[in-house]
Amino acid sequence: MNSGRLKGVSLYIPFHKPYITEEEICGVVDSLRSGWLTMGPKTLRFEEAFARYTGAAHAVSVNSCTAALHMALKAIGLAEGDEAIVPAVTFTATAEVLSYFKAVPVFAEVEARTHNMNALNLERHITPRTRAILPVHFAGQPCDMDEIRELARRYRLFVIEDAAHSLPAVYRENRIGGTGDMTCFSFYATKTLAAGEGGMVTTGNPEWAGRMRTLRLHGISNDAWKRYSRGGSWYYEVMEPGWKYNMTDIQAALGLAQLGKVDWMRDMRAEIAGRYTDAFRHDEELIVPYVKPDRESAWHLYVLKLNLDMLRIGRDRFISEMEERGVGASVHFIPLYRQPYYRDAYGCQAKDYPVSEWIYERVLSLPIYPGMMREDVDAVIEVIKYLIKKFRR
Ligand SMILES: *Cc1c(COP(=O)(O)O)cnc(C)c1O
Repeated sequence: MNSGRLKGVSLYIPFHKPYITEEEICGVVDSLRSGWLTMGPKTLRFEEAFARYTGAAHAVSVNSCTAALHMALKAIGLAEGDEAIVPAVTFTATAEVLSYFKAVPVFAEVEARTHNMNALNLERHITPRTRAILPVHFAGQPCDMDEIRELARRYRLFVIEDAAHSLPAVYRENRIGGTGDMTCFSFYATKTLAAGEGGMVTTGNPEWAGRMRTLRLHGISNDAWKRYSRGGSWYYEVMEPGWKYNMTDIQAALGLAQLGKVDWMRDMRAEIAGRYTDAFRHDEELIVPYVKPDRESAWHLYVLKLNLDMLRIGRDRFISEMEERGVGASVHFIPLYRQPYYRDAYGCQAKDYPVSEWIYERVLSLPIYPGMMREDVDAVIEVIKYLIKKFRR
């Protein structure tokens, strides 16, 4: 009998695998041999290449996207008691950074089809205390940025984009990161450019960029990183209390190698996404991802939804049935109002977020990464087809 699993494919198909080649390995080894381990010449080259790639005037590297968001909020002068609007469906980092300032995260409902926050559902949360909007381009699909920016202009709010999923993504001919106030990227191990850990802020504002370059290294004057090299000076000035958020040249070596193939890697993921969607679009038990026509997703995630009316099991059981058949899956995300901290600190309730709840009950993220073998994609499809047939209502 069909076990729901093809023969001759990987024993276990993980949810994610980074795409690391000799190029990344040689880049890291080159940094090790050079004797320059922390922030240095490669970090600067990576920043320049990243700014060029996204079309931003300035790119400031840091050691995570969380650090990037923190510095961006510092640069706009966020203060205690201020409010910022974030989508209810995101990773905790997007909202967590607000608590660093004793500012208040206000969760906005998201769209059922894209899982993105839009101008309509965030406008009702704007109060006299609102200072910023933090849109997340969910799974790599850009939000309706023209409408969000128009709203921000009207209410004089800053827009800080959480682009942890959206390198590279395009919104109405513009690459994410090339326009807007500030955009924050992640180079965490599972993201679309993997440096182990790392992050970047892009901006068109030279003052913010300069301030963030100081903040990321203890608040000391800009060229302090080269104080131990020939031509560097021992003298530096502390301008304000900053943080230890700098990137290292080892990470930048990975970043430079990965940036060179970031478009190719995106095409590989888009191809896998296309094969999943072709396979599932006619199955009534499933709801395939929807991308609006005027934009391109980075396809960081492939988020499938179960049509629970057609199935006898829920999402949790569905994922364990997949795992039993050797296919890894994940859930993005547990809505933040459900997390004990946010629920208790801000008194938010699931009943105020019917769409996010509807999404949360149904979503699962399938394996999608550049090195994924064709046979493994087929095996994932096979397992899902088998499961929807087995558990059809
Ligand atoms: C991964 C992620 C982050 C945090 O990125 P780090 O580089 O790990 O700090 C922030 N926001 C979203 C939406 C993420 O998925």
